[in-house]
Amino acid sequence: MTALSIRNLKKTYNNGFQALNGVDLDVELGDFFALLGPNGAGKSTLIGIVSSLVNKSSGTVEIFGHDLDRDTAGAKRCIGLVPQEVNFNQFETAHGVVLNQAGYYGIPRKQALRRTEICLRQMELWDKRDTVSRRLSGGMKRRLMIARAMVHEPRLLILDEPTAGVDIEIRRAMWDMMQEVNQQGTTIILTTHYLEEAESLCRNIAIIDDGRIVEHSAMSDLLAKL
Ligand code: ADP
Ligand code: ADP
Repeated sequence: MTALSIRNLKKTYNNGFQALNGVDLDVELGDFFALLGPNGAGKSTLIGIVSSLVNKSSGTVEIFGHDLDRDTAGAKRCIGLVPQEVNFNQFETAHGVVLNQAGYYGIPRKQALRRTEICLRQMELWDKRDTVSRRLSGGMKRRLMIARAMVHEPRLLILDEPTAGVDIEIRRAMWDMMQEVNQQGTTIILTTHYLEEAESLCRNIAIIDDGRIVEHSAMSDLLAKL
């Protein structure tokens, strides 16, 4: 079984624009996988489809063996998505943001509290749990997004440019945290503009351009070619 298996995936938006032109992609269990590509290449579209936020036009997507069409709920449960834009309620405390998410997944109260603590600690936000999230720094908000995405123990964590706009020290600290999550067994897919980020974190990489995968290889093989 793979974490993610995509075959001949196509997406045409309602305005007729074809954002994905037949994508094939496999991500192995436990991988730390980079999806690289220029702006407009189709990264967000691809991630949106895998996370059930965007409808695909055709093709198949399997997440830990759950077919996205036949077992949407099963597929969804496997995924934790960290979108690019901060989209939590900024008037909620850090603790409330994560706990509410547990509520959406129907996690019983006691377990929800335990998971909230674990996730906040893992992202080094436990000390900030009572801070209204609007007052957190940019890097802390990013980490809060990751904590929230992990509350239901997803097997696949998808991070859309998780370190965009954060300064280098905080970025490195976030790399350590993401690596720890991966080492604990969570498969991670990361989109990024920074080749350096992909290089230091990821074992495998795909490059998407114009709605097509133009490279799909081990990171070491790609670096040897450059
Ligand atoms: P779907 O085909 O998945 O139903 P839609 O074509 O209806 O998606 O668009 C979904 C949303 O994305 C709409 O709210 C639309 O305003 C917005 N949108 C439209 N064009 C673009 C674009 N070029 N880039 C990003 N978002 C867009
Ligand atoms: P990336 O994440 O790699 O920047 P996207 O998946 O956001 O790429 O966008 C791929 C292409 O699809 C872009 O040309 C974008 O303008 C277009 N696009 C994205 N969303 C929509 C939409 N809802 N309607 C129409 N076009 C869209």
